Amino acid sequence: MAIVIDGKAISRRIRAELKEEALRLKGERGVVPGLAVVLVGEDPASQVYVRHKENACAEAGFHSRTLRLPSTTAQQTLLNEIRRLNEDPQIHGILVQLPLPDHISVDAVTEAIDPRKDVDGFHPWNVGRLFSGHPWHKACTPAGIIELLDRSAIEIEGREAVIVGRSNIVGKPLALLLLARHATVTVCHTRTRNLAEVTLRADMLFAAAGKPEMIRAEMVRDGAVVIDVGINRLADGRLVGDVAFAECAEKASYITPVPGGVGVMTIAMLMKNTLQAAK
Ligand code: NDP
Repeated sequence: MAIVIDGKAISRRIRAELKEEALRLKGERGVVPGLAVVLVGEDPASQVYVRHKENACAEAGFHSRTLRLPSTTAQQTLLNEIRRLNEDPQIHGILVQLPLPDHISVDAVTEAIDPRKDVDGFHPWNVGRLFSGHPWHKACTPAGIIELLDRSAIEIEGREAVIVGRSNIVGKPLALLLLARHATVTVCHTRTRNLAEVTLRADMLFAAAGKPEMIRAEMVRDGAVVIDVGINRLADGRLVGDVAFAECAEKASYITPVPGGVGVMTIAMLMKNTLQAAK
């Protein structure tokens, strides 16, 4: 039976550490880490997510500012707001909540953020640094996964890592972070043939496909570490991951739950990046 990795407890610990560091930074240099979140439109999931970020900032003694703009906001208006935040000395991290309305280019917005303030790690400069093995701001979800492994004393070096999903925000950056830690990495996607054959090779299996419970026990090697990134809301309201938890926990050595696994790490990593930017 697998050990369940307690993401909630780990993220609580990280946030407590960040709070201490923020206090020290304020005492020694008079700097309070500041995070600006820009929300365009009224997407309900985004509203909840933004509220969580505000609370986490308040708890850790960070300064936070939320800019709420209507869904009809012109792209240029949004870009002007971002430029203002780029120049604001109280703000060290800028995050534009996705999804954005269709008339706004995500690329244009991402590239308008000062890379040093790009705490999401999506700016091409940060992506390039990650690619070359010298990351500055790391994408928060993949960075949170590495942190979960490290704090659970799970070795990465030399192990066979298989990622299901190749998105720019999870699969690809995770592959690069694992590679930098000397794992042997395979990335799967919808055109992968015989997915189970590949996943069965994994010492560490990362599910980031956005498909409820698609990873079944017969796809998991005995003793594998199973990290579930998926967050899927079922018709009956239940929240499940991409991994069929109960049956996979029978075979895995370690497994993350949903909720309470990877998901809760993302905000902690966002704050870590903001603190780094403030420093
Ligand atoms: P995307 O939809 O952008 O990407 C999904 C990826 O999975 C694609 O590369 C796709 O392949 C692949 N895929 C989908 N179905 C299959 C399949 N049946 N077999 C093999 N590969 C498949 O999703 P995201 O990366 O944005 O998110 C993935 C999941 O992680 C979602 O559930 C999301 O909610 C969750 N998530 C959680 C976060 C957190 O914990 N904080 C943050 C971000 C995401 P192809 O490229 O061929 O289409």
